[in-house]
Amino acid sequence: MINKSEHFKKYKINFKWLFLIFLVILFLSYYGIKYIKNLTSTNISNNINEFSEQTTAQLENTIKNQKSFVELIVDTINRGYFKTEADILNTFSDDIKNYNFTRLFILDKNGNGVSNDGYKVENYSNIQEFFAHDDVYLSDNRPSIISDNQINIYSKTFTFNNEEKVLFATINTQDYKDILVRRLFDGKAGTFLINENGVILINSFDDSFENNVNIYDYMLNKVKSNNLEDAEKINNMHSNIQNKVSGIFEINYGKDTYFVQHSPTNINNWSIISVIPSNAIGKELNQFLVISLAICIIANIVVIIIYLYIDISNQHKNLKLYNVAYIDSLTSLGNELYFKENSDSYLKNSAQNKYIISIDINKFKSFNIMYGYDFSNHIITALSQKITEVLPDDNITARMYNDVFVSIFSYDDGIKNLLDKIIENASNINVDNKFIHLNLSIGVYKIKPDEKDINKLVDKAYIARSKIKGSFYDNYYIFDEELENKILKEQEIELSMEEALKNNEFKVLYQPKFYTDTEKLAGAEALVRWYKGDTIIPPNEFIPLFEKDKFILKLDLYIFEKVCSDMCKWKEQYGFTPTVSINVSKEHFVNANFIDDYIKITNKYGIERNKIDLEITESATIDKNIDIITILNNIKEKGFIISVDDFGTGYSSLSLLQNMKFDIIKIDKSFLDNADLNSNKNIFNYIVLISKYLEVKIIVEGVETIEQLNFVRNLKCDIIQGYYYSKPLVKEEFENYLKGYNI
Ligand code: C2E
Ligand code: CA
Ligand code: CA
Repeated sequence: MINKSEHFKKYKINFKWLFLIFLVILFLSYYGIKYIKNLTSTNISNNINEFSEQTTAQLENTIKNQKSFVELIVDTINRGYFKTEADILNTFSDDIKNYNFTRLFILDKNGNGVSNDGYKVENYSNIQEFFAHDDVYLSDNRPSIISDNQINIYSKTFTFNNEEKVLFATINTQDYKDILVRRLFDGKAGTFLINENGVILINSFDDSFENNVNIYDYMLNKVKSNNLEDAEKINNMHSNIQNKVSGIFEINYGKDTYFVQHSPTNINNWSIISVIPSNAIGKELNQFLVISLAICIIANIVVIIIYLYIDISNQHKNLKLYNVAYIDSLTSLGNELYFKENSDSYLKNSAQNKYIISIDINKFKSFNIMYGYDFSNHIITALSQKITEVLPDDNITARMYNDVFVSIFSYDDGIKNLLDKIIENASNINVDNKFIHLNLSIGVYKIKPDEKDINKLVDKAYIARSKIKGSFYDNYYIFDEELENKILKEQEIELSMEEALKNNEFKVLYQPKFYTDTEKLAGAEALVRWYKGDTIIPPNEFIPLFEKDKFILKLDLYIFEKVCSDMCKWKEQYGFTPTVSINVSKEHFVNANFIDDYIKITNKYGIERNKIDLEITESATIDKNIDIITILNNIKEKGFIISVDDFGTGYSSLSLLQNMKFDIIKIDKSFLDNADLNSNKNIFNYIVLISKYLEVKIIVEGVETIEQLNFVRNLKCDIIQGYYYSKPLVKEEFENYLKGYNI
């Protein structure tokens, strides 16, 4: 429907596109972030790996150095450099500091001995453990017997003065702890050193671990409230560690996630387990992701804003152009172009009961005169609203020109109800606080399903409307079969007229005329007939059409030439020619030189022009655009006879008639038909009087009965043409009148 809101809905945002762009950006953002996240988590595991490797290497290195120092001491002893144990202890007393040893001890098999700084040890309880190893041995950590510290003991056995002894070099466990605690990940990362049974030897987190805590139990305990999956991972780690395989995995503890990395060391089947709370890194990652996401969203918004800006300014431009081209600025309805373009596609829809109507305000000119142009424009606008109010929603309505509207729509509830509503709605319109009554003419046509040519449909609505224009009681006319057939016939005629002229389908009939007094032949009127196949089409059916598109000019000339050629033959054959009346359509008068063509033809056939009577309808004489006096003077000058045809129907003024040069008045048949033959007060009688006053001859058309003949005779009319004497005849029949004729 040509609905206002649609026109003035300035911008239509294309949500489909917008949504698509949004999705694409979302998709890219999602995968972008996911990619970064993956990248980061590979990065994290690499980091942890590195962290753990470095820790392990440093530990291994430290231990290796310390072991080799112990080895060196024992080697020196074995070479026999020392006499006493005290010698040994004194010699290395200073050097041990370089290797972070706290003390050196030499003990015998019973666990008795002294340290380099004079501590006496008696019956050291685990002494067998140390004599069980030939190579340098590193013990698990244990409490010092001298201080509160935890210590680890390096040991190596040797024989001194034929006695089996063991060298102890002690270190503070804290030293290893220092190695394990590295300031990575804000110090949140931690490391466990475990022995082959999983007992935690050293942990970098805090000191509150009891002795002999098992890492697996510890971890299982931590995750027990969570899920089996994590427990499984821990068990997995257990077997990996036993098989000396390193690995990394993620587990959850409470709300936090931890990365766990484990790798074997080359020290006593010990392993190192690094644990890093993932939010230590996660925090940075999250920050990074939040920033990325924000950038994505901002980019998204920027893209959408740019898109909207471009789109809206384009639409703005297009809309302006559209409004100029398609919208009637007065009513905001569509214009003719809008109507034709939109109804074309409307016609393709499958709606039933489609109608096209054409609405016109009767006597709209008088509103212009009474109220002025501006107010009349307001009337048109108000009417346009009233009309669209009542029309079904799917209507396409336009103002075609002036006060003429056209609408196409579908309506199933009886078209007459709708028309009544429109008429009622328009009958009382408030325009600028004045109540105006509008009388409408509505032409209606019900569209057939196969009709798609909108121009033809508009024509039909116009034709239907033209049927009521002027009638005060009928407001609408629904195009009917009769009208339809008429149009079809007209279309056929228009399509075939040029062909018909070439094919000589137009023939001339001659209707003889007689003098009233002597009943002698006075001449004939040439009347055209169209022999179309088997049918003869009378002129009333095609002349008005031909007049519309100027084809009449060609036809009249053609008939004129035929008549001249016949007259030429008659002259040869009978030695004379009768006067022939030929009808001249008023369309000729638009071009003042038309008579030149006629003269050429009379010259060609050698016809005297005073034998040719040009019949001009009275209605032509009152056309303001035609200077009839000059035209008739011109024709008269060239020697033709002039008749005013259908006299009495054209309302020409007496003064005009007085100034016009013409010879004959042909009284229209209707006056005779309507005359009371027994009275002398008929219009017919007055027309005869006028003719006498104007001193022109009178021809009476359409005399059919003896009564009419007598009536006409009594009034002393000069010539009679009518069925009483003869119908229009074909040339050969008419020639019978010429044969016996004597001048
Ligand atoms: P018109 O010029 O008034 O022609 C007279 C019409 O009255 C003719 O009709 C004629 O056949 C008819 N008529 C004559 N006597 C009687 C009668 O007693 N009773 C009845 N009922 N009718 C009678 P037609 O031939 O059908 O022509 C109709 C009109 O067509 C003509 O009216 C004329 O205006 C136009 N016309 C005919 N031939 C031509 C032509 O060659 N050129 C032009 N421009 N118009 C033509
Ligand atoms: Ca005539
Ligand atoms: Ca006539």
